[in-house]
Amino acid sequence: MRHPLVDAAHRLAEGVLAPAAEAHDRDGVTRAAIDAVKASGVLGVNAPAAYGGWDAPAAVGREVAEILAGACCSTFFVQAQHHTPVRLLADGAHAARERRLRPLSDGTALAGVAFSHLRAFPELPVRATPLPGGGLRFDGRVPWYTGWGLNDVFLLGGATDGGEVVFAVAEPRAQPGLTPTQPLRMAALTGTRTVGLTLDGFTVPADAVVIRQPYDEWARADRPKNTNTNPAVLGVTRAALDLLDASGDDGAEETADVLRGRLDAVRRAAYALVDEVPAGECLTDRLVVKTRAYDLMRAATTAAVVAGGGRALGLSAPAQRLAREGLFLLVQGQTADVRGAHLAALRG
Ligand SMILES: Cc1cc2nc3c(=O)[nH]c(=O)nc-3n(C[C@H](O)[C@H](O)[C@H](O)COP(=O)(O)OP(=O)(O)OC[C@H]3O[C@@H](n4cnc5c(N)ncnc54)[C@H](O)[C@@H]3O)c2cc1C
Repeated sequence: MRHPLVDAAHRLAEGVLAPAAEAHDRDGVTRAAIDAVKASGVLGVNAPAAYGGWDAPAAVGREVAEILAGACCSTFFVQAQHHTPVRLLADGAHAARERRLRPLSDGTALAGVAFSHLRAFPELPVRATPLPGGGLRFDGRVPWYTGWGLNDVFLLGGATDGGEVVFAVAEPRAQPGLTPTQPLRMAALTGTRTVGLTLDGFTVPADAVVIRQPYDEWARADRPKNTNTNPAVLGVTRAALDLLDASGDDGAEETADVLRGRLDAVRRAAYALVDEVPAGECLTDRLVVKTRAYDLMRAATTAAVVAGGGRALGLSAPAQRLAREGLFLLVQGQTADVRGAHLAALRG
């Protein structure tokens, strides 16, 4: 029997996200779409049951991600940010957890996160300074923050001069010490309302602090994560293959059949590495599979454009959108290791 959240994700994808995907891509993810995401329950997929979440198996989370990403990558990505704050709050300080976790788990509130700049350490794009009483002051520039105007709260990461990583929850609105840029215009995912943030003495109280830990400890857990294949890559690939199937062209369908066989194999290999091998091990194997998944996504989205002909380039045609969303997924969560492995694979 399918997990109820997988059914909910299909309903959300087919009823709301897929029909609006081109509009979201051009004009931005709407509040109505976010309300539908909240109502669907998917925001609680990894959240503790004690706080109103589903605490679903990892395989369910991956399947939900594939379904949503294949329907509308912009909406998928806005909601994808939510799951990191949920996980950190579940393991984090008592006060922040008790105040914030329930609405994020039961789907009442949507969270964003600004932390990828931490990976530039020992550079400190966002410097955190502990304040007397346990609060924090943040200064610097967040290069990427997705969901501005859609998120109800956000988790902000910074690092201290002393080599500590800190995360705190804050309200995502312009306020003393926090100024957003204009939404960034990009080749894909412009609809995600992604901005940069300037932090100039932005302070949060002690009960907003979620986690403080040595940078090395944080990086040890963070670094291997992005060597895994992103389920969204598989979701976009499948959506492109579905377009081939629906094209009415025998050659396109034949291509879809061949690529679908490869997709199943990559999917099995990718998820076996996650489920059966400890997180920090077999990193090279993970990167090989991840790169194969990228190759396959490129082949599938290219085939969808080729099969669609000139019409596939219209802004209301899904094939060009999927191809551009695929470009975005190539760099999302990219670390130095991932970039190196991908470039090496491309030069053969
Ligand atoms: C549309 C869009 C939306 C995004 N939204 C968010 C968001 O909401 N929240 C969020 O946290 N991130 C977000 N990101 C960031 C994203 O997930 C990736 O982390 C990012 O695209 C890859 O890093 P970069 O582009 O900043 O590249 P780079 O700055 O080139 O960094 C790539 C990698 O190189 C290494 N590196 C970079 N600088 C240094 C340095 N000075 N010293 C040592 N190593 C270094 C690090 O390993 C780093 O991870 C978004 C990105 C895009 C394109």
